Amino acid sequence: MPKLTFNDHLFRGYDLRGVAGEDLDVERMDALGRAYATFLHQRRIWEVVVGRDNRITSEEYSDAFIKALVESGIDVVDIGLSLAQIVYFSQYLLRFKGAAMVTASHNPAQYNGLKLAVGFSDTMTTPEIQEFKKIAQSGEFVKFERKGSLRKQDVFGEYKADILRRVGKIGSPRGEAGKFKVVIDTVYGTAGMFLPSILREAGCEVVEQHTELDGTFPLGTADPTEREVQERLAERVVKEKADLGLSYDTDGDRMGIVDGAGRIIWNDTLVALFAKDVLSSMPGAKIVFNVLCSKQVKDVIEAEGGVPLMWLTGHSFIKAKIKEERAPFGGELSGHMFFTDNFYGHDDEAYASLRLLAYLTRMGKNLAQVVDELPKYHSSPEIKLGCADNVKFELISGPITADIKKEFPSAAYVDIDGIRFDTKDEMGVVRASQNGPYLTVKYEARDQAGYEKLKKVISAILRKYSEIDFKDGVNTDALE
Ligand SMILES: [Zn+2]
Repeated sequence: MPKLTFNDHLFRGYDLRGVAGEDLDVERMDALGRAYATFLHQRRIWEVVVGRDNRITSEEYSDAFIKALVESGIDVVDIGLSLAQIVYFSQYLLRFKGAAMVTASHNPAQYNGLKLAVGFSDTMTTPEIQEFKKIAQSGEFVKFERKGSLRKQDVFGEYKADILRRVGKIGSPRGEAGKFKVVIDTVYGTAGMFLPSILREAGCEVVEQHTELDGTFPLGTADPTEREVQERLAERVVKEKADLGLSYDTDGDRMGIVDGAGRIIWNDTLVALFAKDVLSSMPGAKIVFNVLCSKQVKDVIEAEGGVPLMWLTGHSFIKAKIKEERAPFGGELSGHMFFTDNFYGHDDEAYASLRLLAYLTRMGKNLAQVVDELPKYHSSPEIKLGCADNVKFELISGPITADIKKEFPSAAYVDIDGIRFDTKDEMGVVRASQNGPYLTVKYEARDQAGYEKLKKVISAILRKYSEIDFKDGVNTDALE
């Protein structure tokens, strides 16, 4: 077939994301299907489960990708509209080592992309993505000497039963008839098709907000780390007098929470809560978290006798680290939560939501109470600032790192993923996003005065650079 050109930036650190009609189209999805078949051919894998999110282009892209796989001799099970974790679960259900999800996660509506697996719950690593890119760009594709097949299957019933049987009893300590009242906001993403049903079956009273599917994403894409998304959720929780609120990203592998008082609880606090839960049954265990997490996470893990392991941001990196370290749990500020105690080790936020409710049930407390028991810092949300893909890495490793070291000479530094500094009472981190032309920033201090002071310092450093676009970002008000 004719060789197609692919933009380099389509191939990200751990998945593919690009603008539909520019970086991706039906022809390119066909070529990517053939490239994935070639990649799998080298590993003698000829079975792939494919799911997709509810983006406008996802169905035609998925169909083109599947057709190319089948024509290359792959047996495909198409599970249709789905979540990333349901695709991974289907690998175990069907005993398929190959899996693909057509999604751009929380990227804006005009984007699409692919998550590709090379084993059970195991998405491609960065070197594997690069290998896959070479195959796609070469246009030299290999077919299996067998005929591929295609069938459609609805796996949701089996998935739901599986996650429900893995958690303990769920019942609110205060709700009427012992039921948790939860508000779910999925911001018109695919998660709206599944989460209300799961939580109702778990025994919750569910209030749905924006759970209809709409691939034009009239409120923007579902990103549970965005303050606007969480504020809308919080408002409804207060109005409904609910116990807590839950939000999810488009493909269901990231979550966000607010407590019954309508307070936004950022996800590093959720990581700290899950660490407590896990360490109560597995003392001394290792807990993995990314460099963007609050000092609170490390404090809690140490106080509970666990071993804190700070690691790179990115679902594939955290997942791989958990396996390597035999950690029972790991989580990210972005809302990816990974359990290996009685789970598969991939990020499934429906399961994580059930774990949170089961934990609260076991503690006999509400979310606000367990959060208030944790050590406190004044933390910014995860801030995103526009910065071109071709300059962002060098800008951080060079001038920004130098500025930070000058400003905080006695801090401890972690430079595995951007630059993080920790003093006794403060923390700050600036890193390059793998998911788009952005820098990710977060900072915190022990008290409000320290927070305001730190905000000024960090803002002044970042505003020096014309490469950073404060107009193109998320939560940028946290630097004003
Ligand atoms: Zn996602």
